[in-house]
Amino acid sequence: MNSRSWRKISAISAALIGALVFGIHVVEGRVQVDWPSIALLETASAAEGSGAADAMPRGRTPAAIVNGEYPASYFPNTEILGADEMRITALGTGMPNQTKKAVSISYFVELGNGDKLLFDIGSGAMGNLFSLRPDFSKIDKVFASHLHVDHVGDFMGLHIGSWLSGRYTPIHFYGPSGATPELGSKTFIAGMKQAYAWDIATRSGALPDAGGQIEVHEFNYLQEDEIVYQENGVTVRSWPAIHSLDGAVSFSLEWNGLKYVFGGDTFPNKWYMKFAAGADVASHECFLPPKALAAYFGWDLAQATYVSTRIHTEPQAFGKVMSTLKPRLAVGYHSVQSPENNAAIMDGVRAVYDGPLAIARDLMVINVSKKTIKVRMATVDEYVLPPDVTPAYVKAPRTDQKSPSEAVLKGKWDGYTPPPMPKRGQ
Ligand SMILES: [Zn+2]
Ligand SMILES: [Zn+2]
Repeated sequence: MNSRSWRKISAISAALIGALVFGIHVVEGRVQVDWPSIALLETASAAEGSGAADAMPRGRTPAAIVNGEYPASYFPNTEILGADEMRITALGTGMPNQTKKAVSISYFVELGNGDKLLFDIGSGAMGNLFSLRPDFSKIDKVFASHLHVDHVGDFMGLHIGSWLSGRYTPIHFYGPSGATPELGSKTFIAGMKQAYAWDIATRSGALPDAGGQIEVHEFNYLQEDEIVYQENGVTVRSWPAIHSLDGAVSFSLEWNGLKYVFGGDTFPNKWYMKFAAGADVASHECFLPPKALAAYFGWDLAQATYVSTRIHTEPQAFGKVMSTLKPRLAVGYHSVQSPENNAAIMDGVRAVYDGPLAIARDLMVINVSKKTIKVRMATVDEYVLPPDVTPAYVKAPRTDQKSPSEAVLKGKWDGYTPPPMPKRGQ
């Protein structure tokens, strides 16, 4: 049976049943390189489709990937993630002073068991997440590497936006403690709740009650490779990072024999070298080198050198980390990629590292299985409709709807009468 027939059968089966495991003939082949800055990779095999039962937008029928033949672009909601496969999407790879094409840091990880996890949600990342039109009922976990705005700035945007778009259970924020309580994640989330009290109150009652809740899980930033989260075969661990002040960390995610490491922001450190060992995909910041940083911000070289080589990791340092670590794929991020910046980064990294490499940019997609690593760019629309919500979201309890006081309502202009209210559910 040829692959086209398989695809057709897969698509029909998925549409009928929703969740299936396909038996697919595995053929070895070469991975294609779809983006010029990526030097890749080894051999490919077919990903077995799991059909992880996401609520798909209407008009989209996802198909399993057969024989490792991924389309050149990733079109969201058109592929069934394999049961043994991990899909990592770089939502944001830029700087705090973000651009349209390089928003602040965030990685979205989807697993073949249906789980979805966010590592950081920097300012601007929500737009790129939304452009994927994911099933927001499944996105309820954010792991924050540290509390810089370019790593957590869109958390409240995610909280409210996903509550509006299908999430009817609490959102969970996993973040580090700080050197003092006021510098830790508990205080950050308490402050967010307080700052957005009016926003949350306006939506309470109109949206599912439980979806408005934020649960914070603060852990010790000094813990070394200790478990932060463990459920459904997924384990996330943290260890300290060296960045600005105490209270920055890196994470590893292990599932199904695959390991993804998210470095956050850090100076090269011994914990990363120890605990990122064996990573299939190791991401680590790869900041602009001093000269390029000085030109980018208009700083003098001393300040740029301090930031690039003392607070962050410049490209040669990133290359040294990866040449020792030897992951299946090294992923660098945290820059704005002009042609000049890109050349400066690649020159630095390639001076010391010649292994598999992707310098991530926004909406780069990495499919990972035991045999295959495929790197592509997602193709998304500039304008997307909200994703469809599930019946469970529609039915979830909503209580205590609020409205303005009589003092305000009595100011309604009598020159306009709204149409009669239809019955609920019409
Ligand atoms: Zn930072
Ligand atoms: Zn940062």
